[in-house]
Amino acid sequence: MPRGSGDPSLGWFRVCRSHFRPFFVYAGGGIVLGAVALWHEFAAWPQFLGLTVLGFLLWPIVEYTIHRALHIRARSARMRAFLYLAHGIHHETPQVVGSNFIRFSASAIASALFFLLFLGVLRSWPRAVALLLGLWGGYLLYEFTHYVAHFGRPRTAWMRSLQHHHRRHHQGEERARFGVTTPILDWLLGTLRGLRE
Ligand SMILES: [Zn+2]
Ligand SMILES: [Zn+2]
Repeated sequence: MPRGSGDPSLGWFRVCRSHFRPFFVYAGGGIVLGAVALWHEFAAWPQFLGLTVLGFLLWPIVEYTIHRALHIRARSARMRAFLYLAHGIHHETPQVVGSNFIRFSASAIASALFFLLFLGVLRSWPRAVALLLGLWGGYLLYEFTHYVAHFGRPRTAWMRSLQHHHRRHHQGEERARFGVTTPILDWLLGTLRGLRE
């Protein structure tokens, strides 16, 4: 098996250690940030919990929107190069484990922008943190699901259906099936079949 290719015998922890170190930043940072927010305003914990659940539910919309945007038709050479670097390379070499994970620079910039957006709407940094933590939870679930879709041997019917859904996206249906953690948005928005534009 070539270096960097998937080895289904690897556990998730080992995969994170060798290919997806940002996992530890988001999981560890999330615990620390959550603790600081609670320490700052413990009485608001029910609100924090609600916002974290909301952030988690927001993730599939973010995932679908960004993934679908990365499959738009390029209108210039520069745009084609950007789309290739951002996502095309994963479609070209899905067997390379490293190509399966979002770059830390991209997820860190996106996290900062989402935090500023949440802060602007909620006007409270602990609440913005709570919402962001839910989004991070969805993001980490996405990375796990995506890894399993390519390299795993899912044991549950739900994970097997997600694997099938994503593998069809890679195998000739690149203009369809943009959801990874759930096919619900593809079903709702009519993208279980390919886009025509
Ligand atoms: Zn993929
Ligand atoms: Zn794709």
